[in-house]
Amino acid sequence: MYDYNFILINFTRYSEHTMILLNTDFQQIKSLLARPAHILITTHTNPDGDAVGSSLALGSYLRKKGHQAEVVIPDRSPGFLSWLPGHDKILVYRDDPQRCNRIIAESEMIFSLDYNSFSRISDAETFVRASGARKVLIDHHLYPEDVFDYRIAVPDTSSTSELVYDFIEASGDLALLDRDTATCLYTGIITDTGSFSYSCNYVRTYQITADLFRRGIDGEHIHRLIYDTYSEDRLRLLGYCLSERLVVLPEFHTAYIYLTRNDLKRFNYQIGDTEGVVNYALSIANINLAALFMERDDYVKASFRSKGNFSVEVIARKHFNGGGHANASGANCYEPIGQVVERLLAILPAYLDSLPSVY
Ligand code: 5GP
Ligand code: MN
Repeated sequence: MYDYNFILINFTRYSEHTMILLNTDFQQIKSLLARPAHILITTHTNPDGDAVGSSLALGSYLRKKGHQAEVVIPDRSPGFLSWLPGHDKILVYRDDPQRCNRIIAESEMIFSLDYNSFSRISDAETFVRASGARKVLIDHHLYPEDVFDYRIAVPDTSSTSELVYDFIEASGDLALLDRDTATCLYTGIITDTGSFSYSCNYVRTYQITADLFRRGIDGEHIHRLIYDTYSEDRLRLLGYCLSERLVVLPEFHTAYIYLTRNDLKRFNYQIGDTEGVVNYALSIANINLAALFMERDDYVKASFRSKGNFSVEVIARKHFNGGGHANASGANCYEPIGQVVERLLAILPAYLDSLPSVY
C-alpha cells in the first residue's frame, strides 16, 4: 500500500492546490508533459457528471498544450451529459473495442480520472493494465490501488473536476481554461455535490467555482441542462420508486429502494434514469443509510448513501465488494436481487450502535 503522507498534507481541507504543488508525483507528471505526447484519458463505468466532466476538461486542456489526447469511457454516458462541450468526441470502449485498444496501445501516458482501481473500467481493464504507458491517477475516492506510476489522490475534495482545476493551476496554465472547459468542470462539481448539498464543506470548492463563473459559464443554464431534461418515463419511474419500491426500516435508520428488470422495462429505462433516486430515500428524517438495488443484465447494481459520519464506504467494501466515498459508495453484486437485499438486512444489526447517532 501507499505511504499516505500526501493526504496528511491536506489536513486543512482547503489547500488541495498546495497539496498538488508539494506532491512529488505532480512534478514528474509535469516533466513528462513537457513534450507533446499521445495521451489517453479514461474514467469509470456507468460514468457520472464528474467522470465525464473532469475527463473532457483534462482532454481539452492537454490538447491546448499540444498533446494528442483522447477520452475513452467503458460504456455510454447518460443522456443528460450529452450536451457537454466535446462529448461527441468521446470514444465508448464497448462500442468499438478494436479502435480503443489501438489507442491504448499507442498511448504514452494514461490518465485515470474519478476511479482508483482498474476493475472500475470494465472491459478496458486488461488492455489498460497491459499497456506500457505511464499511468497517472487523478481521483478523490478512498484507498487507491497500488497500480499507478503517479498519483494525485485527494479524498477530501468535492470532485475529480476540482482536482483537474488544481492540476491546471499548479501547471501555471489557468490562462488556457476557457469557458467550455470551465463548463465541464462545473458540471463535475455540481453533480458530485448534489448542487452543493454534500461533499461541499470546503472553501476551495467555492473559490474554484467563483473562478469558473469569472470564465463565463452560465450556471443556471447548465443546471437546467442536467436537471430539467427528464423524460416523462424517468419522472414516472421516480414516482414508482417512491410509492411502490421504497422500504423504510425506522428501527435501523435505513431505507432502501429496489428495482427489478421488469420495473425498468416498464418505464423504458435509459442509462442515467435512476441517477439521484437513492438520495430521496436519504431525505427522510432520521434515515441515515439509504440504498438502491437495481437488477441489470448479469448483476445487481447497488448504490449506498449516508448522512454525516456514518460511512457507507465501509458497508460497500466490507460486505458488497465495492467502494467509493464515505457518504456515497457503490458495488456490483453477482447474485439475485433478493439475496443482495437480504445481505443488507443481515448486517444492519451490527451497525445499530452507529446508525442513529450521525452528526
Ligand atoms: P453510484 O452509487 O452513484 O453508482 O456510486 C457512488 C460512488 O461509489 C461513486 O463515487 C462511484 O465511483 C463509487 N462506486 C460505484 N460503484 C462502485 C464499485 O462497484 N466499486 C467501487 N470501488 N466504487 C464504486
Ligand atoms: Mn467523482
